[in-house]
Amino acid sequence: MAVSVELTHVTKAFDTTLAVNDVSLKIERGEFFFLLGPSGCGKSTFLRIVAGFYKPDAGELRFDDTVMNDVPPHQRNTGMVFQNYALWPHMSVAENIEYGLTLRKLEKSERAEKIARALEMVQMEGYHDRAVNTLSGGQQQRIALARALVIEPSVLLLDEPISNLDAALRQQMREEIKQIHERTNITTFYVTHDQVDALTMANRMAIMKDGVVVQVGTPREVYQFPKNAFVASFIGETNFISGKVQQTSNGHATIETPVGMLHSETIYHELSEGTSVQCSIRPEALTVDSAQNGSSRAENQITAKITSVHYLGRMEEYQLVAADIPLKAVHYNPGTEIKKAGDTVQLGIAATAVIPLPD
Ligand code: ATP
Repeated sequence: MAVSVELTHVTKAFDTTLAVNDVSLKIERGEFFFLLGPSGCGKSTFLRIVAGFYKPDAGELRFDDTVMNDVPPHQRNTGMVFQNYALWPHMSVAENIEYGLTLRKLEKSERAEKIARALEMVQMEGYHDRAVNTLSGGQQQRIALARALVIEPSVLLLDEPISNLDAALRQQMREEIKQIHERTNITTFYVTHDQVDALTMANRMAIMKDGVVVQVGTPREVYQFPKNAFVASFIGETNFISGKVQQTSNGHATIETPVGMLHSETIYHELSEGTSVQCSIRPEALTVDSAQNGSSRAENQITAKITSVHYLGRMEEYQLVAADIPLKAVHYNPGTEIKKAGDTVQLGIAATAVIPLPD
């Protein structure tokens, strides 16, 4: 039975490092929740607090209404998958999966039934008796997942479970893990520093930095409405043009920047005149027009010079420079017109695509 997980002002320090710093967060029953952030931001520590391997120095952890701070890991009914899988290499697949069931003192026939079901869930039927050290990395990952799932955990904890796999297998496992979650509806935490994992699978995600949760939201909310420049650059690519707010009225702002005045209609921060901001503009929001026809009707027009072009078939990437600011534009379904390094072009940017963020 899935549970909700709630942290209230949870803090965990190692010597002088605040690995998790006053985190308050509630994850609903059945949610697929991602913890995302750069190396060392506290993701694994967060996960280990939920698993019970670390006890918070301060604050409270609850599963539904039960305070878990003093409950040992083996009484929490959590299943965990580690980045390095942590399987017992000389045991068979079945023995690895069986371990948690033996601890729970289940009858042999019931254990066999559950092992078979777990293997089926990760599409590894037929591997029952294989020694784990004869399996590929991808297969070991599936067995680690089966071992975590077989105990029917209330909370599933995944610590970078697919980061050791090659790109094609990662893509496949993303889909499979997502489907397993949809079938089992277990409250799941997934730690990664790969934004693609999070964007493709998460119900919601928390972006962490230096032990602090900077923003929580759905993939769309976080991508479209980043709270600050750190989040905007961590989730997806973006361009930053710094400037000063010149005027604001009715959800519209004009910002003075080195590339000229920028108009923004995506204002969701408190902005007063004179405030320094970073304007975040996603690469796909820049349209690249030839300087002479300047056909774009976008509210913002910037003159820029192309420094390089990468034609990738379904899209074209441009590196540009405007007033010494490097910019990137992505153009999907590129037509036949060829633009090349050295060309001066007109960049069109809709006012809705300019997001002024606190400095
Ligand atoms: P990564 O993506 O590299 O795995 P992370 O976001 O999971 O990083 P944590 O492993 O939670 O980060 O570490 C957070 C901070 O706490 C880091 O500064 C780390 O050095 C420190 N830390 C973590 N575990 C310990 C420990 N057992 N002893 C001392 N310091 C620790």
